[in-house]
Amino acid sequence: METLSRQTFYESVREYLRELAESGIDGLPESDETKEKNINTDLFNAQMRTSDSPPETLESLRQKIGDCKLCTLSSSRKNLVFGAGNEKARLVFVGEAPGADEDRQGIPFVGEAGGILTRIIRAIGFTRDEIYICNVLKCRPPANRNPHKEEIASCSPFLIQQLEIIKPEVIVTLGTFATQTLLNTKEPISRLRGKFHLYHGIPLMPTFHPSFLLRNKGNKQYYWDVWSDMVQVLQKLNLPVPEKNQGQG
Ligand code: SF4
Repeated sequence: METLSRQTFYESVREYLRELAESGIDGLPESDETKEKNINTDLFNAQMRTSDSPPETLESLRQKIGDCKLCTLSSSRKNLVFGAGNEKARLVFVGEAPGADEDRQGIPFVGEAGGILTRIIRAIGFTRDEIYICNVLKCRPPANRNPHKEEIASCSPFLIQQLEIIKPEVIVTLGTFATQTLLNTKEPISRLRGKFHLYHGIPLMPTFHPSFLLRNKGNKQYYWDVWSDMVQVLQKLNLPVPEKNQGQG
């Protein structure tokens, strides 16, 4: 696995934010409120770059994030949902943003869709404690609306740092939003899933979001598509692939 030095990591962060800007984030409304948010974000990024001791553990990163107010989602959240699992995980799942259950409990993927993700994790031979689960956004967008570009710009450095600390061997992105954000593309998930991409040298497998599977319970093909993605993940990790027949559902 390729790993990043701290210097290249921060260069990657800057490059990533530049890429986001190129993909449209520089077209933000110029209200005073937005200007203030952008200033806050710039200050935060500068602080993270110049810090004497950049976070080296998830706990220290979590402490650094504290009661984050970098974007407006801070005013409507009940809990900031940082992430859960193993700091030494070989495999990281990245979703979009917390939902109502996650916001209430402060833990990622604990609702009905979370139950599906837990079953997927078990089916490939892991427990939730052995892998790591987080989202692109750490706070719930009101009524589960799609994240706004300025929210991604504010929050994505946290995800990048989580990945830098964990250094997983494989990343699985769940659904369109997480996949498009990490791969900086507008391609639909249907075209991206089923094959590995690279995220700063780390193999990244996009697959359907558990909420999508939930909404399409009747369509077993989607479940088999996810299973076939997970088989590739296991093979990438040099792990045995459990037998599973279409009839088992
Ligand atoms: S979504 Fe991210 S940037 Fe916005 S307040 Fe929450 S933690 Fe901070």
